[in-house]
Amino acid sequence: MQKLVLRNLRLTDGSLVDIAVSDGIVADVAPAGTLLPADSDTGTDYEGKTYVSSGWIDLHVHAFPEFDPYGDDIDEIGVNQGVAAIVDAGSCGADRIGELIASGERAATRLFAFLNVSRIGLSRIDELSRLEWIDPALAARAASEYPDSIVGFKARISRSVVGDSGLEPLWMARKLSDETGLPLMVHIGSGPPDIREIMALLSAGDVVTHCFHGKKNGLFDDSGQPIQALKDALARGVRLDIGHGTASFSFRTAEAAGRAGIRPHTISTDIYRGNRLNGPVYSLANVLTKFLHLGYSLEEVIASVTVRAASWLGKPELGQIRVGDPANLTLFSVEDKPATLIDSEGEERIAHTIIEPKGVVAGDKFIKCEVRA
Ligand code: ZN
Ligand code: ZN
Repeated sequence: MQKLVLRNLRLTDGSLVDIAVSDGIVADVAPAGTLLPADSDTGTDYEGKTYVSSGWIDLHVHAFPEFDPYGDDIDEIGVNQGVAAIVDAGSCGADRIGELIASGERAATRLFAFLNVSRIGLSRIDELSRLEWIDPALAARAASEYPDSIVGFKARISRSVVGDSGLEPLWMARKLSDETGLPLMVHIGSGPPDIREIMALLSAGDVVTHCFHGKKNGLFDDSGQPIQALKDALARGVRLDIGHGTASFSFRTAEAAGRAGIRPHTISTDIYRGNRLNGPVYSLANVLTKFLHLGYSLEEVIASVTVRAASWLGKPELGQIRVGDPANLTLFSVEDKPATLIDSEGEERIAHTIIEPKGVVAGDKFIKCEVRA
């Protein structure tokens, strides 16, 4: 029987715990020093300097490496940077979703996916510009074929993606969502379509990604106030997701949102090869550091990639550390180190505290992070 004992890990509420993992299952979670005698040399002693949470979940990534520019390798954007589970945000439509899911099964990172309502997915970056690429029956069949992996439908509703199709792709996505019971993740950006018309079509449980982008046609007006369509959508139960990306996160918008009391439900990267290697995204930890810098508490930042993301996925067990469940942990540290943070508009902020991923415990495997924040 293989046993892993992790001692003196810190939770985000500040308390210290020991965690024992036996054959890939959490065998015990106890106040630090109670699981083993304090002078025991069994297991690894983190001396309260390393934090632990349930495995981080990144709700918006691009994990189909064959597509360019929006593609990357699953474990590069997953466990190698402390992320135990990723949700591919519509890289593939019905034509290639089977290949994405098969590669997820070979990876150490757990993979979920939003199915692009366009059957061709991101093989082109104007995937909704021709309505014949949207085949609702084919999409519904793919979703029912992979119920454990597909968590919703993705529709990118901005000018360069929809072209002359206008709001029609979103209407088709809405109908598909209503018929299958699966929620939508909608990407927003430059218009047309008008953001107010987009928001009006979203229902409880749907997710708006790129919520703090810095372009025109956003969720905040020129004076930084939330538009009425946003307030109405939030009241209906629509969720906000960050989806930082190359072009979709602005410190100014995030600061305006903060002043207006609008906070995202989930923090995600929209990461792929280019913005991982060259910025401004780099990693989920880098995006989390940006929110610490914006004044969010560590507890809230980590909750937004653990318990909140897990509950949105309908898998609350992935957001908990519970005896009897398969081990699903992220180890990380919070370091007092200066770092220059950069948003999608090229604006910089100097942070004094950074989040650094250390490793992921997935079942009986301990995977050390290979990249820094
Ligand atoms: Zn997008
Ligand atoms: Zn994306």
